Amino acid sequence: MQLITHIYMDGRFVEPHGTELFDLHNPATGEVFGRVRLGDVEDTRAAIAAAKRAFPLWSRSTKAERIALLHRLHEAMEARKAALLDAIILEYGAPISRAAWMAAHASNSFLDAARTLEDFDLTQRIGTAEVIMEPVGVVGLITPWNSDAGFICNKLAYALAAGCTVVIKPSEMSAAQTQVVLEALHAAGAPAGLFNVVNGRGEVVGAEITANPDISKISFTGSTAVGKAILRAAADTLKRVTLELGGKSPTVILDDADFAKAIPLALEAGFANSGQACIAGSRILVPASRLDEAIAATKIALGNVRAGDPRDAGTTIGPMVSQAQYERVQRYIRRGVEAGARVVAGGEGHPDGLGGYFVRPTVFADVTNDMTIAREEIFGPVLCLMTYEDEAQAISIANDTTYGLQAYVISSNPVRATAVARQLEAGRVVINGAPHDPSVPFGGVKQSGIGREYGVFGLQAYLEPKALLGALPM
Ligand code: NAD
Repeated sequence: MQLITHIYMDGRFVEPHGTELFDLHNPATGEVFGRVRLGDVEDTRAAIAAAKRAFPLWSRSTKAERIALLHRLHEAMEARKAALLDAIILEYGAPISRAAWMAAHASNSFLDAARTLEDFDLTQRIGTAEVIMEPVGVVGLITPWNSDAGFICNKLAYALAAGCTVVIKPSEMSAAQTQVVLEALHAAGAPAGLFNVVNGRGEVVGAEITANPDISKISFTGSTAVGKAILRAAADTLKRVTLELGGKSPTVILDDADFAKAIPLALEAGFANSGQACIAGSRILVPASRLDEAIAATKIALGNVRAGDPRDAGTTIGPMVSQAQYERVQRYIRRGVEAGARVVAGGEGHPDGLGGYFVRPTVFADVTNDMTIAREEIFGPVLCLMTYEDEAQAISIANDTTYGLQAYVISSNPVRATAVARQLEAGRVVINGAPHDPSVPFGGVKQSGIGREYGVFGLQAYLEPKALLGALPM
Protein backbone atom coordinates (compact mmCIF):
# COMPACT_ATOMS: atom_id res chain seq x y z
CA MET A 1 0.00 0.00 0.00
CA GLN A 2 1.50 3.34 -1.08
CA LEU A 3 1.03 6.10 1.48
CA ILE A 4 1.50 9.73 0.47
CA THR A 5 1.62 11.63 3.71
CA HIS A 6 3.30 14.93 2.83
CA ILE A 7 2.61 18.04 0.80
CA TYR A 8 5.32 20.39 -0.48
CA MET A 9 6.09 23.97 0.48
CA ASP A 10 9.08 26.24 0.99
CA GLY A 11 11.34 23.69 -0.70
CA ARG A 12 10.44 20.88 1.73
CA PHE A 13 8.06 17.96 2.07
CA VAL A 14 5.89 18.74 5.11
CA GLU A 15 3.15 16.96 7.00
CA PRO A 16 -0.14 18.71 6.27
CA HIS A 17 -2.46 20.16 8.89
CA GLY A 18 -5.35 18.39 7.10
CA THR A 19 -5.93 14.80 8.17
CA GLU A 20 -8.40 13.38 5.64
CA LEU A 21 -7.18 10.24 3.88
CA PHE A 22 -8.25 9.68 0.27
CA ASP A 23 -8.08 6.27 -1.47
CA LEU A 24 -6.12 5.85 -4.69
CA HIS A 25 -7.48 3.21 -7.08
CA ASN A 26 -5.94 1.17 -9.86
CA PRO A 27 -8.62 1.80 -12.52
CA ALA A 28 -7.72 -1.38 -14.42
CA THR A 29 -8.89 -3.49 -11.45
CA GLY A 30 -10.72 -1.09 -9.15
CA GLU A 31 -8.41 -2.09 -6.27
CA VAL A 32 -7.15 0.45 -3.74
CA PHE A 33 -3.34 0.64 -4.09
CA GLY A 34 -2.64 3.69 -1.97
CA ARG A 35 -3.84 6.53 0.14
CA VAL A 36 -3.06 10.25 0.18
CA ARG A 37 -3.39 12.63 3.10
CA LEU A 38 -5.16 15.78 1.97
CA GLY A 39 -4.29 19.33 2.90
CA ASP A 40 -6.86 21.86 4.11
CA VAL A 41 -7.41 25.62 4.08
CA GLU A 42 -4.65 26.19 6.65
CA ASP A 43 -2.16 24.25 4.48
CA THR A 44 -3.24 26.23 1.43
CA ARG A 45 -2.69 29.54 3.20
CA ALA A 46 0.76 28.41 4.34
CA ALA A 47 1.66 27.40 0.77
CA ILE A 48 0.45 30.76 -0.58
CA ALA A 49 2.51 32.55 2.08
CA ALA A 50 5.61 30.58 1.02
CA ALA A 51 5.07 31.51 -2.62
CA LYS A 52 4.54 35.15 -1.63
CA ARG A 53 7.83 35.21 0.32
CA ALA A 54 9.69 33.78 -2.67
CA PHE A 55 8.15 36.18 -5.20
CA PRO A 56 10.26 39.34 -4.71
CA LEU A 57 13.52 37.54 -5.44
CA TRP A 58 12.31 35.32 -8.28
CA SER A 59 10.38 38.13 -9.97
CA ARG A 60 13.69 40.00 -10.29
CA SER A 61 15.63 37.00 -11.62
CA THR A 62 17.31 37.39 -14.98
CA LYS A 63 16.29 35.62 -18.14
CA ALA A 64 19.47 33.54 -17.94
CA GLU A 65 18.72 32.44 -14.37
CA ARG A 66 15.20 31.38 -15.31
CA ILE A 67 16.38 29.48 -18.37
CA ALA A 68 19.06 27.72 -16.32
CA LEU A 69 16.49 26.61 -13.74
CA LEU A 70 14.10 25.38 -16.45
CA HIS A 71 16.91 23.24 -17.87
CA ARG A 72 17.62 21.79 -14.41
CA LEU A 73 13.94 20.98 -13.93
CA HIS A 74 13.89 19.27 -17.32
CA GLU A 75 16.90 17.14 -16.45
CA ALA A 76 15.38 16.22 -13.09
CA MET A 77 12.16 15.10 -14.78
CA GLU A 78 14.14 13.09 -17.34
CA ALA A 79 15.85 11.25 -14.49
CA ARG A 80 12.46 10.10 -13.12
CA LYS A 81 10.74 9.31 -16.42
CA ALA A 82 10.51 5.57 -15.78
CA ALA A 83 8.95 6.08 -12.34
CA LEU A 84 6.50 8.58 -13.78
CA LEU A 85 5.53 6.18 -16.56
CA ASP A 86 4.80 3.51 -13.94
CA ALA A 87 2.68 5.86 -11.84
CA ILE A 88 0.69 7.05 -14.86
CA ILE A 89 -0.17 3.48 -15.81
CA LEU A 90 -0.95 2.31 -12.27
CA GLU A 91 -2.99 5.30 -11.14
CA TYR A 92 -4.54 6.57 -14.37
CA GLY A 93 -4.55 3.47 -16.58
CA ALA A 94 -3.23 5.17 -19.72
CA PRO A 95 -2.08 2.62 -22.33
CA ILE A 96 1.71 2.41 -22.30
CA SER A 97 2.27 4.26 -25.59
CA ARG A 98 0.10 7.15 -24.39
CA ALA A 99 1.68 7.08 -20.94
CA ALA A 100 5.15 7.35 -22.49
CA TRP A 101 4.02 10.38 -24.50
CA MET A 102 2.57 11.94 -21.36
CA ALA A 103 5.78 11.47 -19.35
CA ALA A 104 7.90 12.93 -22.17
CA HIS A 105 5.49 15.84 -22.66
CA ALA A 106 5.70 16.73 -18.95
CA SER A 107 9.48 16.76 -18.99
CA ASN A 108 9.74 18.62 -22.34
CA SER A 109 7.46 21.42 -21.10
CA PHE A 110 10.44 22.92 -19.29
CA LEU A 111 12.52 23.01 -22.49
CA ASP A 112 9.59 24.46 -24.46
CA ALA A 113 9.19 27.26 -21.90
CA ALA A 114 12.95 27.90 -21.85
CA ARG A 115 13.03 28.19 -25.65
CA THR A 116 10.04 30.53 -25.65
CA LEU A 117 11.61 32.78 -23.02
CA GLU A 118 14.94 32.81 -24.86
CA ASP A 119 13.31 34.40 -27.92
CA PHE A 120 11.00 36.73 -26.00
CA ASP A 121 11.74 40.41 -25.32
CA LEU A 122 10.86 41.15 -21.70
CA THR A 123 11.59 44.82 -22.35
CA GLN A 124 10.36 46.58 -25.45
CA ARG A 125 10.32 50.18 -26.76
CA ILE A 126 6.77 51.09 -27.73
CA GLY A 127 6.06 54.66 -28.81
CA THR A 128 7.62 56.99 -26.27
CA ALA A 129 7.79 54.39 -23.52
CA GLU A 130 9.84 51.52 -22.32
CA VAL A 131 7.44 48.63 -21.74
CA ILE A 132 8.54 46.02 -19.21
CA MET A 133 6.82 42.65 -19.11
CA GLU A 134 6.53 41.90 -15.40
CA PRO A 135 5.41 38.66 -13.73
CA VAL A 136 1.77 38.85 -12.70
CA GLY A 137 2.46 37.72 -9.13
CA VAL A 138 1.76 34.55 -7.14
CA VAL A 139 -0.18 32.16 -9.35
CA GLY A 140 -2.60 29.36 -8.44
CA LEU A 141 -2.46 26.35 -10.76
CA ILE A 142 -5.40 23.95 -10.55
CA THR A 143 -5.27 20.78 -12.65
CA PRO A 144 -7.44 17.76 -13.57
CA TRP A 145 -6.64 14.04 -13.52
CA ASN A 146 -6.48 13.27 -17.22
CA SER A 147 -2.83 14.27 -17.72
CA ASP A 148 -1.62 15.15 -14.25
CA ALA A 149 2.12 15.49 -14.81
CA GLY A 150 1.68 17.30 -18.13
CA PHE A 151 -0.62 19.96 -16.73
CA ILE A 152 1.48 20.54 -13.62
CA CYS A 153 4.73 20.82 -15.57
CA ASN A 154 3.45 22.90 -18.47
CA LYS A 155 1.75 25.49 -16.27
CA LEU A 156 4.67 25.55 -13.81
CA ALA A 157 7.28 25.92 -16.56
CA TYR A 158 5.66 28.98 -18.16
CA ALA A 159 4.84 30.57 -14.78
CA LEU A 160 8.47 30.25 -13.66
CA ALA A 161 9.69 31.49 -17.06
CA ALA A 162 7.62 34.64 -16.47
CA GLY A 163 9.10 35.14 -12.98
CA CYS A 164 5.99 34.07 -11.05
CA THR A 165 5.94 31.81 -8.01
CA VAL A 166 3.16 29.25 -7.70
CA VAL A 167 0.84 27.17 -5.59
CA ILE A 168 -0.37 24.02 -7.31
CA LYS A 169 -3.50 22.06 -6.50
CA PRO A 170 -3.41 18.88 -8.55
CA SER A 171 -6.34 16.51 -8.80
CA GLU A 172 -6.60 14.49 -5.60
CA MET A 173 -7.04 11.40 -7.82
CA SER A 174 -3.52 11.82 -9.21
CA ALA A 175 -1.46 11.91 -6.01
CA ALA A 176 0.92 9.07 -6.99
CA GLN A 177 1.85 10.84 -10.25
CA THR A 178 2.14 14.18 -8.45
CA GLN A 179 4.47 12.58 -5.90
CA VAL A 180 6.92 11.42 -8.61
CA VAL A 181 6.84 14.85 -10.26
CA LEU A 182 7.48 16.53 -6.91
CA GLU A 183 10.37 14.27 -5.99
CA ALA A 184 11.92 15.02 -9.38
CA LEU A 185 11.43 18.78 -9.14
CA HIS A 186 12.71 18.83 -5.55
CA ALA A 187 15.94 17.15 -6.68
CA ALA A 188 16.59 20.06 -9.04
CA GLY A 189 17.26 22.28 -6.01
CA ALA A 190 15.19 25.31 -6.97
CA PRO A 191 15.12 28.26 -4.54
CA ALA A 192 12.65 27.55 -1.71
CA GLY A 193 9.05 28.65 -2.22
CA LEU A 194 9.07 28.93 -6.01
CA PHE A 195 6.57 26.10 -6.27
CA ASN A 196 4.36 24.72 -3.52
CA VAL A 197 1.96 21.82 -3.89
CA VAL A 198 -1.10 21.02 -1.81
CA ASN A 199 -2.99 17.79 -2.46
CA GLY A 200 -6.59 18.39 -1.53
CA ARG A 201 -10.20 18.70 -2.52
CA GLY A 202 -11.36 21.27 -5.05
CA GLU A 203 -13.99 22.81 -2.81
CA VAL A 204 -11.41 23.21 -0.02
CA VAL A 205 -7.91 23.84 -1.40
CA GLY A 206 -9.07 24.98 -4.86
CA ALA A 207 -11.65 27.33 -3.38
CA GLU A 208 -9.09 28.91 -1.01
CA ILE A 209 -6.65 29.47 -3.89
CA THR A 210 -9.44 31.10 -5.88
CA ALA A 211 -10.53 33.39 -3.04
CA ASN A 212 -7.19 34.30 -1.46
CA PRO A 213 -6.20 37.94 -2.12
CA ASP A 214 -2.48 37.04 -2.32
CA ILE A 215 -3.09 35.03 -5.50
CA SER A 216 -2.95 37.29 -8.58
CA LYS A 217 -3.84 34.77 -11.23
CA ILE A 218 -5.43 31.35 -11.64
CA SER A 219 -4.56 28.96 -14.44
CA PHE A 220 -7.20 26.24 -14.35
CA THR A 221 -7.70 23.16 -16.48
CA GLY A 222 -10.86 21.18 -15.82
CA SER A 223 -14.58 21.10 -16.39
CA THR A 224 -16.59 24.03 -17.70
CA ALA A 225 -18.83 23.97 -14.61
CA VAL A 226 -15.91 24.38 -12.18
CA GLY A 227 -14.26 26.91 -14.53
CA LYS A 228 -17.35 29.12 -14.31
CA ALA A 229 -17.38 28.84 -10.50
CA ILE A 230 -13.71 29.88 -10.42
CA LEU A 231 -14.34 32.84 -12.73
CA ARG A 232 -17.16 34.05 -10.46
CA ALA A 233 -15.15 33.65 -7.25
CA ALA A 234 -12.00 35.19 -8.77
CA ALA A 235 -13.93 38.36 -9.66
CA ASP A 236 -13.95 39.50 -6.02
CA THR A 237 -10.19 40.05 -6.06
CA LEU A 238 -10.03 40.72 -9.82
CA LYS A 239 -7.67 37.83 -10.45
CA ARG A 240 -6.44 37.19 -13.95
CA VAL A 241 -7.72 33.82 -15.18
CA THR A 242 -6.75 31.32 -17.80
CA LEU A 243 -9.43 28.65 -18.15
CA GLU A 244 -8.86 25.49 -20.19
CA LEU A 245 -12.24 23.76 -20.15
CA GLY A 246 -14.29 21.09 -21.87
CA GLY A 247 -14.94 20.34 -25.52
CA LYS A 248 -17.22 18.57 -27.97
CA SER A 249 -14.90 18.66 -30.91
CA PRO A 250 -16.05 18.03 -34.47
CA THR A 251 -14.06 16.02 -36.97
CA VAL A 252 -15.24 17.17 -40.40
CA ILE A 253 -14.50 14.58 -43.06
CA LEU A 254 -14.96 16.24 -46.45
CA ASP A 255 -16.61 14.41 -49.34
CA ASP A 256 -13.33 14.00 -51.23
CA ALA A 257 -11.63 12.12 -48.37
CA ASP A 258 -10.22 8.60 -48.71
CA PHE A 259 -12.13 6.85 -45.91
CA ALA A 260 -9.51 4.13 -45.57
CA LYS A 261 -7.24 6.89 -44.21
CA ALA A 262 -9.79 9.39 -42.90
CA ILE A 263 -11.81 7.12 -40.62
CA PRO A 264 -8.77 5.69 -38.74
CA LEU A 265 -7.56 9.29 -38.23
CA ALA A 266 -11.00 10.30 -36.94
CA LEU A 267 -11.12 7.35 -34.53
CA GLU A 268 -7.63 8.22 -33.31
CA ALA A 269 -8.75 11.80 -32.58
CA GLY A 270 -11.89 10.54 -30.85
CA PHE A 271 -10.36 7.75 -28.79
CA ALA A 272 -7.17 9.63 -27.81
CA ASN A 273 -6.36 9.28 -24.12
CA SER A 274 -9.10 6.61 -23.88
CA GLY A 275 -11.60 9.32 -24.82
CA GLN A 276 -10.81 11.17 -21.57
CA ALA A 277 -9.52 14.15 -23.53
CA CYS A 278 -10.85 17.69 -23.73
CA ILE A 279 -9.76 17.69 -27.38
CA ALA A 280 -11.41 14.36 -28.26
CA GLY A 281 -12.97 14.54 -31.74
CA SER A 282 -16.22 13.07 -30.47
CA ARG A 283 -18.52 14.23 -33.29
CA ILE A 284 -17.50 12.75 -36.64
CA LEU A 285 -19.22 14.46 -39.58
CA VAL A 286 -19.45 12.54 -42.86
CA PRO A 287 -21.33 13.26 -46.12
CA ALA A 288 -24.82 11.71 -45.96
CA SER A 289 -24.26 10.07 -49.36
CA ARG A 290 -21.27 8.15 -47.94
CA LEU A 291 -22.69 7.10 -44.54
CA ASP A 292 -22.76 3.34 -45.32
CA GLU A 293 -19.17 3.54 -46.55
CA ALA A 294 -18.20 5.44 -43.37
CA ILE A 295 -19.80 2.79 -41.15
CA ALA A 296 -18.06 -0.02 -43.06
CA ALA A 297 -14.70 1.80 -42.76
CA THR A 298 -15.37 2.41 -39.04
CA LYS A 299 -15.94 -1.32 -38.44
CA ILE A 300 -12.65 -2.14 -40.18
CA ALA A 301 -10.73 0.57 -38.30
CA LEU A 302 -12.17 -0.61 -34.97
CA GLY A 303 -10.16 -3.80 -35.51
CA ASN A 304 -7.14 -1.79 -34.36
CA VAL A 305 -8.90 -0.28 -31.33
CA ARG A 306 -8.39 -2.49 -28.29
CA ALA A 307 -9.38 -1.99 -24.68
CA GLY A 308 -7.14 -4.01 -22.38
CA ASP A 309 -4.21 -4.18 -19.98
CA PRO A 310 -2.55 -0.73 -20.15
CA ARG A 311 0.88 -2.40 -19.93
CA ASP A 312 0.23 -4.39 -23.11
CA ALA A 313 1.74 -2.58 -26.12
CA GLY A 314 -1.27 -3.60 -28.24
CA THR A 315 -3.75 -1.76 -26.01
CA THR A 316 -5.13 1.52 -27.33
CA ILE A 317 -7.90 2.17 -24.78
CA GLY A 318 -7.37 2.06 -21.04
CA PRO A 319 -9.96 2.10 -18.28
CA MET A 320 -11.88 5.18 -17.13
CA VAL A 321 -10.19 6.90 -14.21
CA SER A 322 -12.80 6.09 -11.57
CA GLN A 323 -16.03 4.26 -10.81
CA ALA A 324 -17.86 7.61 -11.09
CA GLN A 325 -16.40 8.21 -14.55
CA TYR A 326 -17.31 4.61 -15.57
CA GLU A 327 -20.92 5.21 -14.52
CA ARG A 328 -21.06 8.60 -16.25
CA VAL A 329 -20.01 7.02 -19.55
CA GLN A 330 -22.56 4.18 -19.11
CA ARG A 331 -25.30 6.76 -18.55
CA TYR A 332 -24.42 8.55 -21.77
CA ILE A 333 -24.40 5.32 -23.78
CA ARG A 334 -27.87 4.51 -22.36
CA ARG A 335 -29.12 8.00 -23.27
CA GLY A 336 -27.81 7.58 -26.83
CA VAL A 337 -29.75 4.33 -27.25
CA GLU A 338 -32.88 5.85 -25.69
CA ALA A 339 -32.66 8.84 -28.07
CA GLY A 340 -32.71 6.47 -31.04
CA ALA A 341 -29.05 6.51 -32.06
CA ARG A 342 -27.83 3.28 -33.69
CA VAL A 343 -25.03 1.36 -31.94
CA VAL A 344 -22.45 0.56 -34.61
CA ALA A 345 -19.97 -0.83 -32.08
CA GLY A 346 -19.69 -1.22 -28.32
CA GLY A 347 -22.59 -0.39 -26.02
CA GLU A 348 -23.16 -0.57 -22.28
CA GLY A 349 -21.15 -2.72 -19.88
CA HIS A 350 -17.54 -3.90 -19.67
CA PRO A 351 -15.60 -5.22 -22.67
CA ASP A 352 -15.40 -9.04 -22.68
CA GLY A 353 -13.04 -10.37 -20.03
CA LEU A 354 -12.30 -6.97 -18.47
CA GLY A 355 -13.46 -5.57 -15.12
CA GLY A 356 -12.28 -2.48 -13.29
CA TYR A 357 -13.44 0.76 -14.87
CA PHE A 358 -13.11 -0.37 -18.50
CA VAL A 359 -15.91 0.64 -20.86
CA ARG A 360 -16.60 -0.62 -24.37
CA PRO A 361 -15.29 1.68 -27.12
CA THR A 362 -18.60 2.77 -28.62
CA VAL A 363 -19.60 4.35 -31.92
CA PHE A 364 -23.13 5.59 -32.60
CA ALA A 365 -24.59 6.38 -36.04
CA ASP A 366 -27.86 8.20 -36.87
CA VAL A 367 -26.93 10.86 -34.32
CA THR A 368 -28.46 14.30 -34.72
CA ASN A 369 -26.85 17.37 -33.23
CA ASP A 370 -29.72 17.94 -30.80
CA MET A 371 -29.17 14.63 -28.99
CA THR A 372 -27.54 14.80 -25.56
CA ILE A 373 -24.69 12.54 -26.74
CA ALA A 374 -23.88 15.12 -29.44
CA ARG A 375 -24.13 18.14 -27.17
CA GLU A 376 -22.52 17.17 -23.87
CA GLU A 377 -18.93 16.22 -23.19
CA ILE A 378 -18.92 12.49 -22.34
CA PHE A 379 -15.19 12.19 -21.55
CA GLY A 380 -14.99 8.56 -22.54
CA PRO A 381 -14.54 6.49 -25.73
CA VAL A 382 -17.99 7.20 -27.15
CA LEU A 383 -18.19 8.70 -30.64
CA CYS A 384 -21.06 10.02 -32.74
CA LEU A 385 -21.19 9.56 -36.53
CA MET A 386 -23.29 12.38 -37.97
CA THR A 387 -24.19 13.30 -41.53
CA TYR A 388 -24.31 16.50 -43.58
CA GLU A 389 -25.63 17.34 -47.05
CA ASP A 390 -23.04 19.88 -48.18
CA GLU A 391 -19.94 21.72 -46.95
CA ALA A 392 -21.95 24.70 -45.63
CA GLN A 393 -24.10 22.39 -43.53
CA ALA A 394 -21.03 20.53 -42.27
CA ILE A 395 -19.56 23.81 -41.01
CA SER A 396 -22.86 24.86 -39.49
CA ILE A 397 -23.27 21.55 -37.58
CA ALA A 398 -19.63 21.63 -36.47
CA ASN A 399 -20.10 25.13 -35.05
CA ASP A 400 -23.48 24.38 -33.47
CA THR A 401 -22.06 23.74 -30.01
CA THR A 402 -21.40 25.74 -26.88
CA TYR A 403 -17.78 24.53 -27.01
CA GLY A 404 -14.86 25.50 -29.26
CA LEU A 405 -11.59 23.89 -28.20
CA GLN A 406 -10.07 21.86 -31.03
CA ALA A 407 -11.61 20.84 -34.35
CA TYR A 408 -10.37 18.47 -37.07
CA VAL A 409 -10.71 18.56 -40.85
CA ILE A 410 -9.82 15.68 -43.15
CA SER A 411 -9.70 16.01 -46.93
CA SER A 412 -7.55 14.85 -49.83
CA ASN A 413 -7.31 18.52 -50.84
CA PRO A 414 -5.30 20.55 -48.31
CA VAL A 415 -6.42 23.87 -49.85
CA ARG A 416 -10.08 22.96 -49.34
CA ALA A 417 -9.37 21.63 -45.85
CA THR A 418 -7.67 24.91 -44.90
CA ALA A 419 -10.62 26.94 -46.23
CA VAL A 420 -13.00 24.88 -44.07
CA ALA A 421 -10.65 25.09 -41.07
CA ARG A 422 -10.78 28.89 -41.24
CA GLN A 423 -14.56 28.76 -40.78
CA LEU A 424 -14.61 26.48 -37.73
CA GLU A 425 -15.10 28.07 -34.32
CA ALA A 426 -12.24 26.61 -32.30
CA GLY A 427 -8.99 27.64 -30.66
CA ARG A 428 -7.13 25.07 -32.72
CA VAL A 429 -7.97 23.19 -35.91
CA VAL A 430 -5.96 20.12 -36.88
CA ILE A 431 -5.80 19.49 -40.62
CA ASN A 432 -5.26 15.93 -41.86
CA GLY A 433 -3.83 14.65 -38.57
CA ALA A 434 -1.06 17.27 -38.19
CA PRO A 435 0.93 16.58 -35.00
CA HIS A 436 0.83 18.66 -31.79
CA ASP A 437 3.23 21.61 -31.79
CA PRO A 438 4.17 22.93 -28.33
CA SER A 439 5.09 26.39 -29.65
CA VAL A 440 1.58 26.95 -30.99
CA PRO A 441 -1.17 28.50 -28.82
CA PHE A 442 -3.65 26.13 -27.22
CA GLY A 443 -7.02 27.05 -25.71
CA GLY A 444 -10.66 27.44 -26.46
CA VAL A 445 -13.27 29.88 -27.70
CA LYS A 446 -16.86 30.05 -26.42
CA GLN A 447 -17.38 27.89 -23.31
CA SER A 448 -14.16 25.92 -23.85
CA GLY A 449 -12.27 28.58 -21.98
CA ILE A 450 -10.49 31.90 -21.75
CA GLY A 451 -6.88 32.55 -22.72
CA ARG A 452 -4.14 30.43 -24.26
CA GLU A 453 -1.31 28.20 -23.09
CA TYR A 454 1.95 27.11 -24.79
CA GLY A 455 4.53 29.22 -26.58
CA VAL A 456 4.56 33.01 -26.64
CA PHE A 457 0.85 33.32 -25.86
CA GLY A 458 1.25 30.94 -22.92
CA LEU A 459 4.15 32.98 -21.55
CA GLN A 460 2.31 36.30 -21.97
CA ALA A 461 -0.55 34.91 -19.88
CA TYR A 462 1.75 35.14 -16.82
CA LEU A 463 3.06 38.63 -17.63
CA GLU A 464 1.66 42.13 -17.36
CA PRO A 465 3.03 45.10 -19.31
CA LYS A 466 4.29 48.09 -17.34
CA ALA A 467 4.88 51.24 -19.39
CA LEU A 468 7.57 53.70 -18.31
CA LEU A 469 6.90 56.94 -20.16
CA GLY A 470 9.89 59.18 -20.44
CA ALA A 471 12.31 56.40 -19.57
CA LEU A 472 15.68 56.42 -21.29
CA PRO A 473 16.39 53.37 -23.48
CA MET A 474 18.31 50.67 -21.51
P1 NAD B 1 -12.97 19.15 -12.52
O1 NAD B 1 -13.41 20.47 -13.03
O2 NAD B 1 -13.92 18.34 -11.75
O3 NAD B 1 -11.67 19.31 -11.59
C1 NAD B 1 -10.51 19.97 -12.04
C2 NAD B 1 -9.73 20.47 -10.84
O4 NAD B 1 -10.50 21.48 -10.19
C3 NAD B 1 -9.47 19.39 -9.79
O5 NAD B 1 -8.19 19.58 -9.24
C4 NAD B 1 -10.56 19.66 -8.77
O6 NAD B 1 -10.23 19.19 -7.49
C5 NAD B 1 -10.61 21.18 -8.81
N1 NAD B 1 -11.86 21.77 -8.30
C6 NAD B 1 -13.07 21.18 -8.17
N2 NAD B 1 -13.95 22.04 -7.63
C7 NAD B 1 -13.29 23.21 -7.42
C8 NAD B 1 -13.66 24.48 -6.90
N3 NAD B 1 -14.90 24.73 -6.49
N4 NAD B 1 -12.73 25.45 -6.85
C9 NAD B 1 -11.48 25.24 -7.30
N5 NAD B 1 -11.06 24.04 -7.79
C10 NAD B 1 -11.96 23.03 -7.86
O7 NAD B 1 -12.44 18.36 -13.81
P2 NAD B 1 -11.87 16.87 -13.86
O8 NAD B 1 -13.03 15.93 -13.75
O9 NAD B 1 -10.72 16.72 -12.96
O10 NAD B 1 -11.30 16.84 -15.37
C11 NAD B 1 -12.09 16.62 -16.48
C12 NAD B 1 -12.51 17.93 -17.15
O11 NAD B 1 -11.36 18.70 -17.47
C13 NAD B 1 -13.23 17.72 -18.48
O12 NAD B 1 -14.35 18.57 -18.55
C14 NAD B 1 -12.21 18.13 -19.51
O13 NAD B 1 -12.72 18.58 -20.72
C15 NAD B 1 -11.45 19.18 -18.81
N6 NAD B 1 -10.12 19.32 -19.41
C16 NAD B 1 -9.83 20.43 -20.18
C17 NAD B 1 -8.59 20.55 -20.79
C18 NAD B 1 -8.23 21.75 -21.63
O14 NAD B 1 -7.02 21.99 -21.82
N7 NAD B 1 -9.16 22.54 -22.14
C19 NAD B 1 -7.64 19.55 -20.62
C20 NAD B 1 -7.96 18.45 -19.84
C21 NAD B 1 -9.19 18.36 -19.24
